[in-house]
Amino acid sequence: MNHLNKLLLACALAMPLAHAAAPMAHTQAPGYYRIMLDRFEVTALSDGTHPFPVDTVMTNISPRQALQDLADADLKLPLQGSINAFLINTGDKLILIDTGAGALYGDCCGKLVAHLRAAGYQPGQVDEIYITHLHKDHAGGIPAFPNAVLRVSQAEADYWLTPANKAKAPAFLSTFFDAAQAAVAPYQASGRFQPYQDFGPLEAGITALPAPGHTPGHAAYLIADKLLLWGDIVHVAPIQLPHPDATVKYDSSESTAQATRASLLRQAAEKHWIIGAAHIAFPGLGHLRRWRGEYQWLPLNYDEAPAAQP
Ligand SMILES: [Zn+2]
Repeated sequence: MNHLNKLLLACALAMPLAHAAAPMAHTQAPGYYRIMLDRFEVTALSDGTHPFPVDTVMTNISPRQALQDLADADLKLPLQGSINAFLINTGDKLILIDTGAGALYGDCCGKLVAHLRAAGYQPGQVDEIYITHLHKDHAGGIPAFPNAVLRVSQAEADYWLTPANKAKAPAFLSTFFDAAQAAVAPYQASGRFQPYQDFGPLEAGITALPAPGHTPGHAAYLIADKLLLWGDIVHVAPIQLPHPDATVKYDSSESTAQATRASLLRQAAEKHWIIGAAHIAFPGLGHLRRWRGEYQWLPLNYDEAPAAQP
């Protein structure tokens, strides 16, 4: 052993033993998150995340301002956008609000059923599905529930299920009509498609509210007067909370979407509702605070063992 080798050996012996490098997992914990609201157990379910095309989809805001808003929130492109849905256990029934994208968005998404199972439920146990609106990322997962009754506002059903509307709509919405019709078809065939004519109470403690603009019959669901599951009222919180007039090109009426967003943001802040959002970072549950003229998102505090409230 020459001098150099002796030196290297001495160094190696002096070093602490290193464990083999652990592989990185690149995965998250199962995508569910639970809260209790009075007697209701609410489980947020992640369907996945995907790069949200902020630079091509946002309207009524300049690309420069949109990027500045992201920078102000220490975010940049590509921005992962969440797709969230919510399972409500009323004690008597399981009601799923939205169903994720199913197979329609590719490998990023369609994870809702796996996360529902991880949360301790089976798809066959879901009694009812309430849809906020029939876009692909909310309706694509509808076929996975063999026993559920499907409920959506009559206005929403009429819009997406009427062939003449597809002919009138922008070309980029064409596949949205196809997807909505395909998702609903098995429920229609088996008598499990039950649109509701009027907004209002659907179940004790669950009320459908009109929230039009993103789509013509878009609904929000108010749970126990405390939690508003509002679907697509906000797509990119770091942009649309400082700039609520910012819209997305998928809005069926930008002006109606702006008015609905303004109204629900104000009500949520005033009434201290919890918001359950389809596209705010998972689990998409938090409060809104009005602070110095802007809305702020306050994620819910984490509770390891959510229990029924007295
Ligand atoms: Zn959406």
